[in-house]
Amino acid sequence: MYKTFRGGIHPKECKITEKSAIVDHEIPKVVCIPLIQHIGAPCDPIVKVGDKVKFGQKIGDSKSVVSAPVHASISGIVKAIEPRSYHLGKKIMAVIIEGDGKKEPVWKEKKSKVDPDEIIKIIREAGIVGLGGAMFPTHVKLSLPKDKKIDTVILNGCECEPYVTADHRLMLEKTDEIISGMRLIIQTVGAEKGIVAIESNKKDAIMIFRERLKKEKNITVIGVKTKYPQGAEKNLINAVCKRIVPMGGLPMDVGVLVDNVATAFAVHEAILLGKPLIERICTVTGEVGNPGNYRVRIGTMFSDLYKASGQAAKVLAGGPMMGLAQRWDVPVIKGNNAVLVLGKDMIDTSGYSTCIKCGRCVEVCPMRLMPNVLSVLGEKERFQKMDSFHISNCVECGCCTYVCPANRPIVQFIKLGKQMIRKNAKPK
Ligand code: SF4
Ligand code: SF4
Repeated sequence: MYKTFRGGIHPKECKITEKSAIVDHEIPKVVCIPLIQHIGAPCDPIVKVGDKVKFGQKIGDSKSVVSAPVHASISGIVKAIEPRSYHLGKKIMAVIIEGDGKKEPVWKEKKSKVDPDEIIKIIREAGIVGLGGAMFPTHVKLSLPKDKKIDTVILNGCECEPYVTADHRLMLEKTDEIISGMRLIIQTVGAEKGIVAIESNKKDAIMIFRERLKKEKNITVIGVKTKYPQGAEKNLINAVCKRIVPMGGLPMDVGVLVDNVATAFAVHEAILLGKPLIERICTVTGEVGNPGNYRVRIGTMFSDLYKASGQAAKVLAGGPMMGLAQRWDVPVIKGNNAVLVLGKDMIDTSGYSTCIKCGRCVEVCPMRLMPNVLSVLGEKERFQKMDSFHISNCVECGCCTYVCPANRPIVQFIKLGKQMIRKNAKPK
């Protein structure tokens, strides 16, 4: 019996690229590197127009604690530093680099052993953020407050979003490197044990991790039920550790740290190879002529990434549940695990009606909220009232919208409510 959490849904998986081995995507001639690709303060550019930059050179940084530097993902010349379209709908400052075709990186291979005190510093300098989509700077996550102790590190290999297979392929093809990154994370936070959690629809990954870890005493592999959003960290902690993160709390409040498999891989590459985060694995899927799992340079434009079919109507950064609709010309950023092109027949334009009080959304909500009430309050613009229904605890998984027979855009109302509450909040 596979472990799981209460609520959730099981949408059609559509993992059409799960058998496609990772291949290098063509190196782009021009990249667009946004100066914010993380939760926290944006970076300031540390290069200027006309500068020559090397492959892997740091080009943006910030003095803020919660931030992460950005690096040149190709060698070339800085052509512009200007606002460009970005995933979150607004324009953001970005460094545009025109490639010169040189391949030699700035980083040099590190020694096989690194002083533990150096690990967090190296992770910061490498610009590593949560690659499962959260994009929270990893060095901040690993720098625990003095009163917190982590006993368990969970490596998140769930990848519960339909269509997305980037982590699955990485787990099959880079198992040892991911385990190496996990060991470094365990060592850094001083945890007693590690758990690799993988959904039951990836049996080959479960088997390979079990095989590689059979002699390991403090790391176990747990298969979890294929259910969305199994990979949301609070659900995962509940499923594998039977601990409940309190409302408004963090995993560290219950002694747990969760990191995605791709983040562990990036930690391995930064510590043992000295490599900054200049590329990631991205699933290209949907109405495209070239579906697959690609190793993509950060800053590659979406339009360089896929060949859209005649049916293509909309592009998402991420999977169909949590992915955000994009313009056709935004760049791939660090948290971008997939590019999904939807066909005309996949877009619902039928509109929505009033809530019929069926309760389905309440049943599936993994955070035990009342999405029906939140959606009505959002619709009536009673944003402050949404606070008393714990809107901040919503993980925006979209399960409520998925099951709603009235087709209500519940997540959109919740997102709007969160935005308005933030806007009206008095600075502390
Ligand atoms: S209210 Fe939030 S957490 Fe609950 S199902 Fe809807 S989107 Fe997910
Ligand atoms: S699923 Fe839709 S119709 Fe049913 S209670 Fe929730 S919001 Fe109302």
